[in-house]
Amino acid sequence: MKKIRDYTLEELETELINLGEKKYRAKQIFAWLYKSLRSFDEMTDLPKELIEKLKNNFILDCIEIETFQKSKDGTIKYLLKLSDGNKIESVLMQYKYGYTVCVSNQVGCKMGCNFCASAKIGYIRDLTPAEIIGQILEIEKKENVKVSNIVFMGIGEPFDNYDNVLKAIRIINDPKGLNIGARHISISTCGLVDKILRFSEENIQCNLCISLHSSRDDVRSGMMPVNKKYNILEIMNACKKYIEKTNRRITFEYALVDGVNDSKEDAIHLAKLLRGMLCHVNLIPINKIKDGKYEKSTAERIMAFRDTLNEKGIVATIRRELGSDISAACGQLVRNS
Ligand code: SF4
Repeated sequence: MKKIRDYTLEELETELINLGEKKYRAKQIFAWLYKSLRSFDEMTDLPKELIEKLKNNFILDCIEIETFQKSKDGTIKYLLKLSDGNKIESVLMQYKYGYTVCVSNQVGCKMGCNFCASAKIGYIRDLTPAEIIGQILEIEKKENVKVSNIVFMGIGEPFDNYDNVLKAIRIINDPKGLNIGARHISISTCGLVDKILRFSEENIQCNLCISLHSSRDDVRSGMMPVNKKYNILEIMNACKKYIEKTNRRITFEYALVDGVNDSKEDAIHLAKLLRGMLCHVNLIPINKIKDGKYEKSTAERIMAFRDTLNEKGIVATIRRELGSDISAACGQLVRNS
């Protein structure tokens, strides 16, 4: 059966018209979908016949929390089960400015980054918009909180599931949907150049993050096979076009690996690559994964790397580590545990 939260308001209007209903009903239904309701019966301003029609044609819930683990820093990692039995993970983080959910967008991932636990499980399928949004709704319901920020940094490459992710973003951003401002939504890509260019045309104010991790093609290709398809020069050219088009700052994510990409020369090389760009560098102490070969850089090396970038005029900060004791940090999510 169709998942009713897969539709934007405009698409739901078409669905309702196809069922012989008036267009305005879609607005009423859409508004209900993003409140915490468990059944169509709770849509109290709809006639009984319409509720029956909805029950016969759509499903409301397609995802449920199976288990969760809480970190000592308060971060919570959830294992969620989809209606076909597949499992994914999502993470809730609490910051001073509110709650952030890190969502998954695929069951597994094709990209094969070799520092990432999600890559080790292979790719099964894309998530639909309802399954992406469902992660946020289920967490809000369970914890009785209102989430204010969404990051697409869980399992999967968001630009490899472009249409579903974009539709989910539009529903998350819709004032009648989850009503989360586009500037509070961040999408992270490993550098799919064609999609970066497409994203620049979307007229949406989300934050774009690029997982860069090295400014040298040989090192980056060793960490991220996707670099053999889209090299650093191609990514930089796409980023420049994106900035030109949107006037928005890009965040480059850089996971520091001991002895691989964390020397002073690496920092100078990176600063040269990014010189003059409207950007920010987010330094991430890499998280060890099971059977992974990479080791985290020392705190001294990470700070020295940041200082070199700052001295060269590149704004760089070190990301606070959250949830690493429960394998909920960047690159540690898998599809079951
Ligand atoms: S880092 Fe992201 S793109 Fe790379 S394998 Fe992991 S989930 Fe996929």
